[in-house]
Amino acid sequence: METINKQYKPLAGLTLQELQKVTADLGMPRFVASQIANWIYVKRVDSIARMANISKANRALLSEKYCVGLTAPSNAQMSEDGTVKYLFSVGDDKEVEAVLIPEDDRNTLCISSQKGCRMNCYFCMTGRQGWHGNLTANQIINQVLSVPDSEAITNVVFMGMGEPLDNLTEVLKAIEIMTAEWGFAWSPKRITVSTVGVKPALKTLVEQTSVHIAVSVHNAIAEERQSLMPIQKLYPIKDVMELLGKYDFAHQRRLSVEYIMWQWFNDDVKHAELLREILPSTDVRVNLIRYHMIPDVQKLRTSSDERMAMFRDYLNGHGITCTIRRSRGEDIAAACGMLAGKVKNEEENEKTTPVKKSNKKSNKNQ
Ligand code: SF4
Repeated sequence: METINKQYKPLAGLTLQELQKVTADLGMPRFVASQIANWIYVKRVDSIARMANISKANRALLSEKYCVGLTAPSNAQMSEDGTVKYLFSVGDDKEVEAVLIPEDDRNTLCISSQKGCRMNCYFCMTGRQGWHGNLTANQIINQVLSVPDSEAITNVVFMGMGEPLDNLTEVLKAIEIMTAEWGFAWSPKRITVSTVGVKPALKTLVEQTSVHIAVSVHNAIAEERQSLMPIQKLYPIKDVMELLGKYDFAHQRRLSVEYIMWQWFNDDVKHAELLREILPSTDVRVNLIRYHMIPDVQKLRTSSDERMAMFRDYLNGHGITCTIRRSRGEDIAAACGMLAGKVKNEEENEKTTPVKKSNKKSNKNQ
């Protein structure tokens, strides 16, 4: 991997159109942009020197101002359940996390879109940090390209640090790179964007892409939701669901609802009934999530297995697919709501591992 120097601009994270501007500005033929895209996104090289079918003169010219711009994770931590949390430096002394969740038939990478988050959800470690800036498309796509076994990733979910729809421009670029023929050429079905419901940006995302959408609802009662999620005041969840009801989520793409369950707060049958009422259709899938305690948030406790099962059974009984999601990576603080841009040091946790590549092959047919 090349040494990153701030004076060089990264090429990874640029769309084909942006690469065409780079080559035009340097007086190179237009097809060189396609060659660069192919080397970075298909062949996945990490230096301009390795772009063998680009002339030596053009590589030298490119190298005067640009680099591929990939940065390996600075640290990794493995959970007992096989989940791995990677830490990436993103400038300004800040770090973000990407979490690899291996399962029998897929390898899902949960990626970050911002340094911190300004949505300030009460139950979330990232929200507690405040917002320190947006990630660039380079920093987003770098998480996918730079984790070990990158080519074995089958799915990407924007469920890491930050609200993706508060950084729409860069997130759209990253999605374009992952789905375009000149990029990874992935089906959009391999990508899920999760949001608390930033309505105008959500409309754009739904209309401009075909990725799956996940909405963090967590409570269908407006006042109760607003007590934990300030976004409710600006974009009430009922309005967000009404908007989504105008689009087709029964074919080709999926709409799911994320619902963290808290004992005696949002786990009554009344809550299940009201959730059912705001769902735009019975095609929506509901994922029930156990709450993972974070420091300083003492008033919330996860629901009991019995209450979660009751909630699930109510929705299933009304024709809605609802499942209780298995928690992953809780022992390394990689589970939902626990990401804080840090890896415990080795004295605290012996699971910290050096980052190294293996030769595991991809399974792209999932
Ligand atoms: S739950 Fe998501 S939107 Fe809310 S503060 Fe955390 S990262 Fe931000």
